[in-house]
Amino acid sequence: MSKVLIVAEHADGRLNAATAKCVKAAGSLGASEIVVAVFAAPGSPVPALAAQLAGVARVLEVSHAANEHPLAATLAPQVAEVAEPFTHVLGPSTTFGKDLMPRVAALLGAPQVSDIMAVESATRFKRPIYAGNAITTVEVAAGTKIVATIRIASFEAAAGGGAAQIESVTPKAALPAHTRFVSLEAAGGDRPDLQSAAKVISGGRALASTDAFKLIYSLADKIGAAVGASRAAVDAGYVPSDMQVGQTGKIIAPELYIAIGISGAIQHLTGIKDARTIVAINKDPEAPIFEVADIGLVGDLFTIVPELEKLIAAGRK
Ligand SMILES: Cc1cc2nc3c(=O)[nH]c(=O)nc-3n(C[C@H](O)[C@H](O)[C@H](O)COP(=O)(O)OP(=O)(O)OC[C@H]3O[C@@H](n4cnc5c(N)ncnc54)[C@H](O)[C@@H]3O)c2cc1C
Repeated sequence: MSKVLIVAEHADGRLNAATAKCVKAAGSLGASEIVVAVFAAPGSPVPALAAQLAGVARVLEVSHAANEHPLAATLAPQVAEVAEPFTHVLGPSTTFGKDLMPRVAALLGAPQVSDIMAVESATRFKRPIYAGNAITTVEVAAGTKIVATIRIASFEAAAGGGAAQIESVTPKAALPAHTRFVSLEAAGGDRPDLQSAAKVISGGRALASTDAFKLIYSLADKIGAAVGASRAAVDAGYVPSDMQVGQTGKIIAPELYIAIGISGAIQHLTGIKDARTIVAINKDPEAPIFEVADIGLVGDLFTIVPELEKLIAAGRK
């Protein structure tokens, strides 16, 4: 039977919703036991949060001062040590998981299955290839330890209400001295995290400047949305690269996605195909984004976006 270890993603004392999605994916493996490992500094509130996820049998609290800031180089040897009795080691297919899990696979000498979007059995999985234009089924030989990343856009989050037991684990693994935390510069401030936000507004090349992106931030703040961007907007330097949505950016699945001044290139659409409702604002009625949009507004964004904001503000009164 499968024993699944999930590496929790968390920041600022909060559990990232990606972890609950990994728990759901582990549930579909038919696991006999699902365990969440929380690598954090001593005194973190995150193990107690992970213990509330339905389906989780145990939470391993791996406390170490070096775990205050998640560094893949520091976490990987600890994960590899804790993973020893497990058949599967899962992490989310987020920036965190994509950085960490290949190192874990290398240390364990295990194969990695990346971006699992569906589970057929404990050893057979579906994953997207060619920018999501094809889906491949991969099978790992039975009896092989599997390291995998879970495409969080493809799974619902596990419910709350669980009461898993929390066990404290002290890692013995020697931690590398070549990599250490110096400082963190995070974009976005108080805005929701792009990969787990329920609402996302993205701007494209049409914004034409960093300054004009303030229109997008302002609208996003009115509705509590995260902000993303097309690669053209990132390449032009209007916004930082961690805001890029798409094949080579973030794959997201919000309830509401608003694409503003974005043409809808296939590489962008790959990142949003699991979004529930897509709204597009574009002055070109032939723009490909309208082929996938549920609601389309044809017109100049510099007129439409301020009007939309006014209507939202008026609606609140
Ligand atoms: C290997 C590879 C990977 C890639 N990965 C990604 C990726 O991850 N994410 C991604 O986004 N792209 C990616 N791309 C790039 C992608 O092919 C497109 O070039 C890019 O998405 C275009 O960005 P855009 O829609 O902002 O710009 P454009 O294609 O230039 O579109 C701008 C749109 O704005 C509209 N517009 C202009 N002015 C206004 C106005 N005033 N009001 C309203 N609408 C207006 C135009 O009609 C047009 O439709 C990748 C490409 C390659 C080759």
